[in-house]
Amino acid sequence: MKFGVLCQFSAGHLIAGVMFLGDKMDYELKVNYENKTKIKAPCSRCSLETNHRILTDVELEGHQIDEDGFLIYGTNDNFQTIQCLGCDHISFRQSHINSEDDWIEETSNGIESVPRLYQKFYPKPEDYQSRLPELALLPNKIKLIYEETLVALNSDQKILTGIGIRAIIETVCKDRKADGKDLYRKINNLVEQSILTKDGAEILHKLRVLGNSAAHEVMPHEKSQLKLAFEVIDHLLQGVYVFPIHTKEHLPS
Ligand SMILES: [Zn+2]
Repeated sequence: MKFGVLCQFSAGHLIAGVMFLGDKMDYELKVNYENKTKIKAPCSRCSLETNHRILTDVELEGHQIDEDGFLIYGTNDNFQTIQCLGCDHISFRQSHINSEDDWIEETSNGIESVPRLYQKFYPKPEDYQSRLPELALLPNKIKLIYEETLVALNSDQKILTGIGIRAIIETVCKDRKADGKDLYRKINNLVEQSILTKDGAEILHKLRVLGNSAAHEVMPHEKSQLKLAFEVIDHLLQGVYVFPIHTKEHLPS
């Protein structure tokens, strides 16, 4: 196999290309910085499809040409870092088209055959994004359980997520030295200590039951329930650990 390298600079762009000259397919790799193209993509933070700009675009173009110079088969793969124009959230998009996979579409020029577009997004749009950017402010044990439970949630491990949510609540109770024979009483004790509101305790009781059935009855819960549970956990951890530190820093008594 032979290959050649081409490099080209233009205003605001660096295009680097590598040509792989094999027996069957030839590939050309281009790296485009500051691609100004706007695309529609799902944003996991906005929870809807929004306009995104392409920050970096790596394009892999493949083609197979016959002896007379006609295209037999062509592919186009793009690997892009994209940013939501609504909330600035950065994610990754992978797209693929090829010359064999067309579908019929009605355009302004009439009925046309257009390449079928395949797309993947990372993180997956349905993944849960933590509302806690300052994990370092959490006690180490809680931080470890929190991170593992978040990975379990985003890997669709619903039973482990339920168990992890209960473990986070238990560890918060232990850390705040909540009094009581069982978790039910310990959560109520957090209210007596003014660490938790009554409304917050009610939600924690629901999450406690969620964790019970996950652990003892090996019962997975709906992802929507687990995501809601995680939002409550985020609020709890912010209230117990993050806000008090910020208050001390910015509003000293
Ligand atoms: Zn967004």
